[in-house]
Amino acid sequence: MRYIIGIDVGGTNIVAGTVAEDGSEILGVLSEPTKAEEGPDAVVGRIVELARASMAESGRGRDVAGVGIGSPGPLNTTTGVVLLTPNLGWVNMPLRDRVAGALGLPGTLDNDANCAVFGEWWRGAARGAKHVVGLTIGTGIGGGIVLNGDIYRGASDIAGEIGHMTIDSTGRRCKCGNYGCLEAYASGPAIAARAVEGIEAGADSTLPRLVGGDLRKVTAQVVYDAAHEGDEFALEVVRDTAKFLGAGVANIINIFNPEVVVICGGVTQAGDKLFVPLLSEVKRRAFKPAVDVCRILPGELPGTAGVWGAAAVFIKRTWGLK
Ligand SMILES: [Zn+2]
Repeated sequence: MRYIIGIDVGGTNIVAGTVAEDGSEILGVLSEPTKAEEGPDAVVGRIVELARASMAESGRGRDVAGVGIGSPGPLNTTTGVVLLTPNLGWVNMPLRDRVAGALGLPGTLDNDANCAVFGEWWRGAARGAKHVVGLTIGTGIGGGIVLNGDIYRGASDIAGEIGHMTIDSTGRRCKCGNYGCLEAYASGPAIAARAVEGIEAGADSTLPRLVGGDLRKVTAQVVYDAAHEGDEFALEVVRDTAKFLGAGVANIINIFNPEVVVICGGVTQAGDKLFVPLLSEVKRRAFKPAVDVCRILPGELPGTAGVWGAAAVFIKRTWGLK
């Protein structure tokens, strides 16, 4: 059996794992802080070390035949160059060749959210589906589109930027410079920001007490915790999040008519409090024959979807996926 190193390069952490070609197992899953502030050379060094450590821990080092890398973009999957990542501070960074060259292996590079959704399609919640669209919700909102079992990348590798779908043309400002992007409402920091705004406007909530009175410490996680404890205002923030996501998912369903929409990231911890109102919003907005065939599911591979997917991209490109 051949094995592939999958690497998920994130703004906060790098995760690596050694993945069997047939998808039967992932071994030696390891993680390290990215520490992007130390510059690209240091980050590449850490990626290479982590890949070697994963190979060693997996005990399959001699069977490793390639490396698949997922990175924030925009990037060029043909040249393997990351064009620009504000989070990591990279411009025109030849990430694929630098990592693959140091490891002495062939490599592939793809967008991190594409990889996460491809991983969920290959080995996670969307297994067996033909058409899948996914969202990865964290600091931002990434997206990926899998059509007929392959990632749909568009004409210049930009397709799937679902977080930057406009859901309110005169709405909140997004980090991308546009107004009213889904990400500006439903990413982790956006959920926290909406909660803080509500409290500052006088909402009655246990949230201030949960953060010792320091509203800067309100995170999306704190909001979910308060919602689970029955805090009415936190529940309202979660319900609003579901409405915004529901509008985005309804757009996706009307455009792609997928069998599965998979939602990955911390937001899924809100459980039914998110998914029930999300589904009713989707039903309200999207065409019934499309809603009827679509399952909206939380991701099943938290922490490793991007690693599975990065490896799958390599396998698909090199030998084809079985
Ligand atoms: Zn945006």
